[in-house]
Amino acid sequence: MSATLIDGKAIAEEIVSEVAVRVAAFKPLGKVPGLAVVLVGDRPDSALYVRKKIEMCERLGILSRKVELPVRTTQEELLRVVGELNLDPAIHGILVQSPLPPPIDEQAVIRAIDPRKDVDGFHPVNVGKFTIGDPTGLVPCTPAGVIELLLRSRVELPGRRAVVLGRSMIVGKPAALLLLAQNATVTICHSKTRDLAEITRQAEILVVGIGRPEFVRAGMVGEGAVVIDVGIHVLPDATRKSGKRTVGDVAFDEVSAKCGMITPVPGGVGPMTIALLMRNTVKAFAAAVGEGPGTGNP
Ligand code: NAP
Repeated sequence: MSATLIDGKAIAEEIVSEVAVRVAAFKPLGKVPGLAVVLVGDRPDSALYVRKKIEMCERLGILSRKVELPVRTTQEELLRVVGELNLDPAIHGILVQSPLPPPIDEQAVIRAIDPRKDVDGFHPVNVGKFTIGDPTGLVPCTPAGVIELLLRSRVELPGRRAVVLGRSMIVGKPAALLLLAQNATVTICHSKTRDLAEITRQAEILVVGIGRPEFVRAGMVGEGAVVIDVGIHVLPDATRKSGKRTVGDVAFDEVSAKCGMITPVPGGVGPMTIALLMRNTVKAFAAAVGEGPGTGNP
């Protein structure tokens, strides 16, 4: 490996420390941020993500409320729970863990969350705000984490060629808009893109979120590029004691021999998502208690 590793764990820890300082500053005033995490059903992966979020809240002195609902919960019941949390003054952030069991309409649930408490940043009001560059909104955590990784690793963005592979609303599109806001020259690629490797090879900064294990090979990456791998997959691996290995959307070994900087999986974008969720929660809280929207966040 010749590339410099971008240490997502360490950078996430930096952000978590900053959030802790903000939370502590409110404590003497008797004001505590509150995050509600709603889990519908019993998917083990979702349960694990929720547990990690609750543990991080506890560490930071953020009040957490876990709302567990059975898999058969109806959309009406879930919307009622969201409505109650919207009105609860102790709760400043609401996160409904995805995926939701069918036939619940995820978009309807997102739209029911008060945009001021939408710490995932998926509500159309927040999507609109960050699209027009209004800093008072809440930005989706994973793409915000991608930008923080780049900025805190001192990767120059203005004027540079950035390629985003993937155009989902939770990763690709917002990541592209955030890179654009940093004055990068951005190209978005997706499943209908022709000559994909030719485009990705030109990237000085390549952000990959396509949900395909080790899809990006060395031939798709330019010498010295900065590669941010958003993907995360747990694959069976009989050669390992654990019987599994975690990989990203990038073939790490071969790409890291060619590129300039790269995020590992795990330990890259993953820890950033939860750190940015905490930061969004405190941003929503600070706005609610009158410190003014947008304070403390870039
Ligand atoms: P998604 O909704 O499935 O979107 C995948 C995107 O990749 C789509 O835009 C799709 O194009 C594009 N794509 C798929 N196959 C392609 C191909 N062969 N060539 C070019 N483009 C292709 O996935 P997502 O939710 O954005 O997640 C992407 C990855 O990030 C997943 O591995 C997920 O696990 C990971 N993730 C990680 C975190 C974290 O915290 N680390 C958070 C969220 C997601 P079309 O639009 O044309 O279909």
